Amino acid sequence: MIPYARQQVIQADIEAVVAALQADFITQGPLIPRFEQAVAAKTGCLHAVAFNSATSALHAACLALGLGAGERLWTVPNTFVASANCARYCGASVDFVDIDPATWNMSTVDLEARLVRARRERRLPKIVVPVHFAGQPTEQERIEALAREYGFRVLEDASHSLGAKRQDERVGSCRWSDIAVLSFHPVKIITSGEGGMALTNDADLAASLGMIRSHGITRDPRRFQRPAAAELDGSEPDPWYYEQQFLGFNYRLTDIHAALGLSQLNRLEDFVVRRNHLASRYQAALQGLPLRLPTVQTGNISAFHLYVVRVDSGDGGRFRRQVFNAMRQRGIGVNVHYLPVHLQPYYRALGFEPGQFPESEAHGAGALTLPLYPDLTDAQQDQVVAALRQVLAHG
Ligand SMILES: *Cc1c(COP(=O)(O)O)cnc(C)c1O
Repeated sequence: MIPYARQQVIQADIEAVVAALQADFITQGPLIPRFEQAVAAKTGCLHAVAFNSATSALHAACLALGLGAGERLWTVPNTFVASANCARYCGASVDFVDIDPATWNMSTVDLEARLVRARRERRLPKIVVPVHFAGQPTEQERIEALAREYGFRVLEDASHSLGAKRQDERVGSCRWSDIAVLSFHPVKIITSGEGGMALTNDADLAASLGMIRSHGITRDPRRFQRPAAAELDGSEPDPWYYEQQFLGFNYRLTDIHAALGLSQLNRLEDFVVRRNHLASRYQAALQGLPLRLPTVQTGNISAFHLYVVRVDSGDGGRFRRQVFNAMRQRGIGVNVHYLPVHLQPYYRALGFEPGQFPESEAHGAGALTLPLYPDLTDAQQDQVVAALRQVLAHG
């Protein structure tokens, strides 16, 4: 079976992990700040805080941005459930913005229309979470302009898009957002096994993220709330002293994972180049077939985490299902990104219904993800294309 995605692990990665295992600290050691600094340098942000998953990082980011019960977070239905669930962990409610039919990213037209209505009805969101679907940056500068006008914070779910650019600005630089979150799950651009990172240019947000990651604890004397006893007699705080100031979590990454992530980061540019090479080969080879191919907006460089085509047959997804099954029978591990989040039973139980987000639903009914990962050979890709041609011709 040719899978839809797969990590690349080379000897240098293995050696880096083995060295981490032999070091003095296998967690909370020196590799965590080194990994954070390396990702900050690659993306151009000031602060990076490593987490044990993007899901934890999204939760921590919502808390750091002050999301609480009774408040609202908006994201797209065309994403992994984690982009929405982070609000639910905070007791906040979730609503959705439909996708743009060309990019399959958050529609800034739909976003503005919903903001106009929400302002009138006094239920504006506190946080908006754009997702760079399949690796293509969203219209961040437009979303930032709306954030200023309507007073919400921007949390980028950049799980698909490490290495992507918009208008020469690297994803993760946070030029147009408060926080951006990366995932290092094995199917993503680089992997640490499991892992994630929150990026920001705001030192206070970075400090909060660091505390949320580890029980709400700080060891930074400048942030102590109760140095009073020490201050009164003019002495330093006790060297073992730390403070838990609120209820945090253990969302820490280990040095073992960071070692793998750091080693993989050396190949980020190679990964993105190879992914783009394979995407343009698909683009050329699939011309003329009854499919909608992904488009990359002018000014964007996609990281091509996924290569998603649309089999739009207007039959509620029946033909897509045939194509999916026939491809799997031929040993091609196609997938679907994404079943719209609002149609998941958990979100249906919160009151969402089919028909509310038609572009996301049409996408969910037609999407087919073809194999794309750095080690996919051109010959294997030709095999995928040949299988798809056959299947589309014979049903
Ligand atoms: C993978 C993914 C996540 C979750 O990442 P984890 O590191 O597995 O928690 C969140 N959002 C999107 C869009 C993703 O693709």
